[in-house]
Amino acid sequence: MSDYTHILLAIDFSTSADQVLAKARDIAQRNNAKLSLLHVVEYMPPVDYANDPMVSNWVINDNEMLEQAKKSLQKFSEKHNLKEVDLNVQFGTPKHAISQFVEDKQCDLVIMGSHGRHGISLLLGSTAVAVLHAMPCDILTVKLEE
Ligand code: AMP
Repeated sequence: MSDYTHILLAIDFSTSADQVLAKARDIAQRNNAKLSLLHVVEYMPPVDYANDPMVSNWVINDNEMLEQAKKSLQKFSEKHNLKEVDLNVQFGTPKHAISQFVEDKQCDLVIMGSHGRHGISLLLGSTAVAVLHAMPCDILTVKLEE
């Protein structure tokens, strides 16, 4: 098996994220590869809630969502004492943001959970399936217990 040089771990902060990280760290160490983490803030179509007092307080803007996600990733990195790991947060759909990242940063392996928040009862979650079809490089889906 060829050595990997740049591994991308797609992280969703679900309860299984720790398990997926452990596998990614192990593989990165064995291959002496760079490890990047990417969390994608999923796009929510803009809706004009301005005149609806019932829901207007729930709406936060894109920048706030990005800032929250950056803080969460930073916390996750501190919790796991991640050093020399490249942390990234992007806005978009996981499928497109992950494939764009892989292309831009020339990753040669993507690691993700077999399922996360969207696919607990499935063999593979919807994000894993979407990414599988879009990726130009190897993908490892970490089999997670329910
Ligand atoms: P799911 O499709 O929600 O079952 O998620 C399957 C896997 O896709 C998760 O274990 C993560 O590795 C990855 N994933 C899901 N959502 C995101 C996201 N917003 N950003 C980055 N990775 C994600």
